[in-house]
Amino acid sequence: MQRQIADCERIAQQRGWVVAERYVDDDISAWSGKRRPEFERLLADLRAGAVRGVLVYHLDRLTRGDLRVLESFVDLCDELRVELGCVTGDVDLATSTGRLTARMLGSLARYESDHKSERIRRKHEEIAANGRVSGGGSRPYGYEADKLTVRAAEAAIVRECAKRLLAGEPVLSIVRDLNERGVMSASGGVWSPQSLRRILASPRISGQRTHHGQIVAKAVWPAIIGAKDGAKIRALLANPERRTNKAARRYLLGGLLVCSHCGERLVARPRSGGQRRYACAKGPGFSGCGKTYINADNVERFVTEAVLIRLDSAALQRALERRQRKAPDAQRWLSELEQAQAQQVELAAAYGNREISMDELRAARKPIEARLTNARKQLAKLSRSSVLDRYIGNGDALRADWDSLDLSQQHALVAAVVDSIRVGPARRGYNRFDESRLTPVWRP
Ligand SMILES: [Zn+2]
Repeated sequence: MQRQIADCERIAQQRGWVVAERYVDDDISAWSGKRRPEFERLLADLRAGAVRGVLVYHLDRLTRGDLRVLESFVDLCDELRVELGCVTGDVDLATSTGRLTARMLGSLARYESDHKSERIRRKHEEIAANGRVSGGGSRPYGYEADKLTVRAAEAAIVRECAKRLLAGEPVLSIVRDLNERGVMSASGGVWSPQSLRRILASPRISGQRTHHGQIVAKAVWPAIIGAKDGAKIRALLANPERRTNKAARRYLLGGLLVCSHCGERLVARPRSGGQRRYACAKGPGFSGCGKTYINADNVERFVTEAVLIRLDSAALQRALERRQRKAPDAQRWLSELEQAQAQQVELAAAYGNREISMDELRAARKPIEARLTNARKQLAKLSRSSVLDRYIGNGDALRADWDSLDLSQQHALVAAVVDSIRVGPARRGYNRFDESRLTPVWRP
C-alpha cells in the first residue's frame, strides 16, 4: 500500500499536480462488505469540487473487481472535468481512448451481471416447474438429506400429526405429546408449534413443488400425505378462528410472583370479564391473603423487558453456566432410558421363549414403561433449556426471537435470571400501571 501511494505521488509530481488528499480503503473492509468509506469520501469531494484530478494505482483499486462502478465513475469525472490517471495497467484513464475502453468495460460488466441474474432466475423457475429440489437449506423433516428419499420413521410422525390435526386436535397439544414421547425434530431438537405448523402446512409433504410460495408442479419426490389432506391442513392452519387459540394465552409468570403482604406466590386468577390477572388467592386450597392483585399484561410486559435487559449481560452467562452443570443429569436419564429399553427387550425374549406368561409379561412391563416415560420427560425438559444456549452474549437475537418462543421457553428464560418478583400493594386511586410495585429478585 505504501509503495502504491508513493508511486501515485511520483506520477502526480511529474504531472505538476499538488496532492490534496489520499483515499485508502483498506482491503478487508472493501472486499468483504459493500461499503467503501474512502471511495465515498472521494466521490463527495469530487462533487464538492475539492478535487480536480484523480490518480489511481490500478483500475482494480477503483473498481474492486466490479467494473460496473467504472462507467459511472468515468461519467462523473467527465462531467466535472476532472482529470484521470492510472499508474499501472492496460487502461490509461488519462487518455480519451482509455476512458472509452473503461466505459465499454463498465457497460459490458453491467450487461453480463444483469444477464446472469436473469439466467439464474430462469434456471430456478425451470427447476421448480420440473418439480425438482432446490439446492441449499436444511434437511426437510420426513426426508433424507438428498431431499428425495422418504425417511420412514419421520414420515410416520408426519402422517400421525396430520391425522390428529385434521381430527381437530390443537397444534400445541400435538407438540407437547411429541416432546413428551421424546420424538426429535429434523434438527434433533424439541418441537415448537411453529416448527410443526411449518412442516404440516408445507406442500412438500404432499409431493408438491412450490416456487415463491405457489404450488407450481408435482414434485419428483414421493408424497407422505395426500394432496387433498395437504390442502385441508393449509386451510385449517390459515383459518383465523384457529389462530385465536393462540390469543388464549397462558400465564408467563406462574410461580414467580410473590405477594409482599403475606409472602405467598400469586396465582392466575382472571377477572370475571376474562381479563388476565394474577392474585394472592385465599379460600379453600389457597393460603394467600387475598389482598394483592395485578394485571397480567402489564406485569408480564414489564418483567419481560427487565429480563431482556438483564439477559444481555453477564447474568445470562452465569445462569447458563449453572444450567450446564446439570449436564450429568442428561447422562443419567439417557442411561435410565437405555436400561429400561434393554429390559423391555429381555422381557419380550423371555416371553418368546415361554419362560413367562402373557400376564407376567404385562405386569412386568408396566413399571418399565413408567420408567421410560419419566426418562423421556426428563430428557425433553433438559433439551428445552438448551434453547437458551445460543443466546449467550447475543441479547439482540433473543429480543428479536422473543415473541416466537413458546411460553415454556419464555418462562425458562425468565426463571433462569429471576428468582421471584415481589408485588407490593396497589396505590389507592392510581389507575395506571405502577412499576414501583414490582421488585425483581435476581438470581445471583
Ligand atoms: Zn398475600
